[in-house]
Amino acid sequence: MAYDDGNIFAKILRGEIPCKKVAEDEHTLAFEDINPLRAVHVLVIPKGAYVDWRDFAATASADEQTAFTRMIAYVADITGIAGSGYRVISNIGRDGGQEVPHLHMHVLGGEPVGSLVPRG
Ligand code: 5GP
Repeated sequence: MAYDDGNIFAKILRGEIPCKKVAEDEHTLAFEDINPLRAVHVLVIPKGAYVDWRDFAATASADEQTAFTRMIAYVADITGIAGSGYRVISNIGRDGGQEVPHLHMHVLGGEPVGSLVPRG
């Protein structure tokens, strides 16, 4: 899938639409999901134009990959869910249910997250 810079997260990164920022560094942005599914639901995205995990793993720099990984742990720390536990999910492609074609990790917690994937 080619990267489409009209996607909603690209617009957030360009400041064209607002977000509730949780944390940011040179390579990564974390912000609250607009439709939270748990008490804590934060999206972590790279600032670079990567469609999904495969694209990011293959082409992002080591610094970008390190920043992304660390930001997920940092978000868990600053939202207070690191101790009680949380889940990190990335939906990828059609079967994965990815709606926004810019790589993102969902960080969910603050209450029990439930079974890994519902049957159905
Ligand atoms: P996906 O299904 O692609 O893994 O998840 C996309 C997520 O982006 C959804 O959880 C959805 O609620 C969130 N989302 C969609 N549009 C916006 C928006 O404009 N702002 C924010 N903060 N989140 C959004």
